[in-house]
Amino acid sequence: AQPSTPSTARPAPAAPYLDARLPVEQRVTDLLGRMTLEEKAGQMTQASREAVDGDRARITRLGLGALLSGGGSAPSPNTPAAWADMVDAYQRRALATRLRIPLLYGTDSVHGNNNVLGATVFPHNIAMGATRDPALVREAARITAAETRASGPQWVFAPCLCVVRDDRWGRTYESYGEDPRLVESMETVIDGLQGTSVKDRARPDHVLATAKHFAGDGDTTYGTSTTKSYTIDQGVTVTDRRHFERVDLAPYGPAVRRHHVGSVMPSYSSVRWTDHGDGTPVRMSANRELLTGTLKGRMGFTGLVVSDWEAIGELPGDYPDQVRAAVDAGIDMFMEADHPARFLRTLIAEVRAGRVPLTRVDDAVRRILRAKFELGLFEHPFTDRRGAHAIGSQAHRAVARRAVAESQVLLKNDRHALPLKPSQRLYVAGVNADDVGNQGGGWTVTWQGASGHTFPGTSILRGIRHAARHVTYSADASAPVRGHDVGIVVVGETSPYAEGEGDVGNHGRTLNLSPRDRATVDRVCRSVPTCVVLDVAGRPQIVTDELGKAAAFVMAWLPGGEGEGVADVLFGKRPFTGKLPVSWPRSEAQEPVNVGDRHYDPLFPYGYGLTAKGSSRAGTAG
Ligand code: BGC
Repeated sequence: AQPSTPSTARPAPAAPYLDARLPVEQRVTDLLGRMTLEEKAGQMTQASREAVDGDRARITRLGLGALLSGGGSAPSPNTPAAWADMVDAYQRRALATRLRIPLLYGTDSVHGNNNVLGATVFPHNIAMGATRDPALVREAARITAAETRASGPQWVFAPCLCVVRDDRWGRTYESYGEDPRLVESMETVIDGLQGTSVKDRARPDHVLATAKHFAGDGDTTYGTSTTKSYTIDQGVTVTDRRHFERVDLAPYGPAVRRHHVGSVMPSYSSVRWTDHGDGTPVRMSANRELLTGTLKGRMGFTGLVVSDWEAIGELPGDYPDQVRAAVDAGIDMFMEADHPARFLRTLIAEVRAGRVPLTRVDDAVRRILRAKFELGLFEHPFTDRRGAHAIGSQAHRAVARRAVAESQVLLKNDRHALPLKPSQRLYVAGVNADDVGNQGGGWTVTWQGASGHTFPGTSILRGIRHAARHVTYSADASAPVRGHDVGIVVVGETSPYAEGEGDVGNHGRTLNLSPRDRATVDRVCRSVPTCVVLDVAGRPQIVTDELGKAAAFVMAWLPGGEGEGVADVLFGKRPFTGKLPVSWPRSEAQEPVNVGDRHYDPLFPYGYGLTAKGSSRAGTAG
């Protein structure tokens, strides 16, 4: 049965919660006191836009608290104006409810406002970690926030504060690095997204940020799994409490206390303690000890906890069991994307039956309303489009280009192969030389991303062509190589991924270079006096053999839309300053490899990175 229709009596215009002069807490208390159980349950529900698109009146009927574009799901045409129109149309439905509570619209702006065509596309987090530049990270996030809010959404599911400990994990690219202190230093991203004071959040160029995936997502033990469909990226963190505190939880204390992150998303993964408990993995979505005890209790988190996409359905038991466990654990907003009505109905029934305390529901709704008041949504529910002209502007793209340049890590540079000279005759090869889709990786226009010219960015080849006079390009290296001074081979991961599919061992995925890349390196490096290899990938690849063949080797990560930034460092327009945010393995079998490990013997250590003046012999590895 549908929940009973709330009373239709409208609030008096003078209702305190509508008075912007009153303190947020007072407005929350006033509004909460007016709400029915149905309205409260509605606020705790987040649906995908697909779940309401056929029948937008559902937003009003169910009194939904939030919607999202899961996997970046875009309107057609995919323009900033169409996004804003879409979000505003949903908002009108939310404002047609009895208490006129605006909805939150969430999206995964994880490297720029990456779902919207024409927006600035920054490098992924692993590259940002390589920059070691917190001010740049803040600036990129400020741009991301401005471009996102001007196109409608006021809430982003970023940043990922995962501390990646095994490169075989399919979401390695979403991590700033393997050292919790590095991740913590990059939390300026939260300031960029939300601003530094709560007041900033109400400005039309800031958003509510989400620290995810709490906690241990990057530290799951390879090959462990509690779900059928995903082998590794939703595995089990098998650990003792001390390690978990030191590595996996470490970024969250500062994110909450220093940066006041507004929301937190529990991980799909589970944790299994080796030093206490009964040895059963506990899913984070039902982990009361960590969500309520640690996050809300010890860390003092007053924001909202939002479940990951349909994560509740992965919990043990039947649906009412799952809802009870998750509410009890401390989840406030339920991303029950495809089944919002089922969630709402179940929650209401459980409360009525006395199996879910109303006090827990009130606490959840209080957190959600607080976020909405702080974002200024009661005063300004619709998109302020004044900033839309700056989406993908030259100024914004210049910052992304700088981020690309600062993130490049020079791993080898013999005989001063780099920087290149504009007068040299260059032979460029490899499919990743001219593919912005591959440069973007996952979460670029679509959820898993795709190869090809999926968005209007510049490829690495384009950057090289702008910088040099004689450039031959041959993707498969079939054009004659002889007669060129320098060969540039762009290798790497060639089928983008966001989740699950990126796991090594899944879909034939491996850290090894493809046979095709290896053959191209062979052929080109054999035929030119100087050979430079660039790696476009979301994590280290196994390049031990190729290093011997190339004079210079550059890790380009997933640079996003501004391939010109790669050319900037290749030609010495900017110096190489990037440092490895993760240790670089010699072989896949060596994984996991992390600084501080007992038998630490990587190919390149954590923090490694040459300047173009140095040679690889000057470094500690190679
Ligand atoms: C991912 C989250 C993401 C959410 C919404 C999930 O599958 O794990 O990182 O925020 O989808 O798109």
